[in-house]
Amino acid sequence: MCRHLGYLGPERSVGDLVGYGENSLLHQSYAPRDMRGGGTVNADGFGVGWWGADGFSRYRSAAPLWSDPVVRETLPNIRSRAVVAAARSATVGMPVQHTACAPFSDDTWAFSHNGVVRGWPESLTGLAAELPVAELLQLEAPTDSAALWLLLRRALGEQDPEKAMCALVQSVVAAAPDSRLNLLLGNGTELWATTWHHSLSALVDDERAIVMSEPYDDDPAWQSIPDRHFVSARPGHLIVTPLEMGAR
Ligand code: GLN
Repeated sequence: MCRHLGYLGPERSVGDLVGYGENSLLHQSYAPRDMRGGGTVNADGFGVGWWGADGFSRYRSAAPLWSDPVVRETLPNIRSRAVVAAARSATVGMPVQHTACAPFSDDTWAFSHNGVVRGWPESLTGLAAELPVAELLQLEAPTDSAALWLLLRRALGEQDPEKAMCALVQSVVAAAPDSRLNLLLGNGTELWATTWHHSLSALVDDERAIVMSEPYDDDPAWQSIPDRHFVSARPGHLIVTPLEMGAR
């Protein structure tokens, strides 16, 4: 399953953040420690997104994170206080292309998914039926994650991130039981995440908030997020609440 990372804190080099720690996102792309549900490496592309004075920007590639020269030659010179990045392990049957890599984005939102929607695409037919055909035809990539982003983006127009993400997990699990739905959403000032059959850790203090599939180092301040929980994080603020079916 893919790995993702959300960072909010003091301005730092985006490239350094991706390579930071003995178990950095870069390390997790070729030697992850906690893969669940299949896959051994996260070699099917990556994406890095950051917020700056001019809004949100991103770079995505179908190349492995460790082999794309942009990571060494360009990203170190980009600085930001808010970053979302992901390394992808394509689910069997889903294409390897840069548009299938997180972060998916629109306006100021950035989204990532670790996991799989079981029985995709048929299992999502009922949920997708609510969407205008024009939006479905513009799906960025024929993958479960791109479809989840389409559904979530639409919900974000009407609901706050917590309601929208929890409702999405509930409806997808109802339609596609045994799915793995670790979602990560950012807007440059806050991070929201879910755990549903996948690993996630958080490191939050007064200066920074980091949410990551696996901790990038052995700092004892990392908290392992229990399964089936919702996380909201920003510097000085971490809320972790159970994500129960039918509870919201
Ligand atoms: N199913 C998604 C994809 O193929 C995410 C894969 C993953 O988490 N390994 O892109």
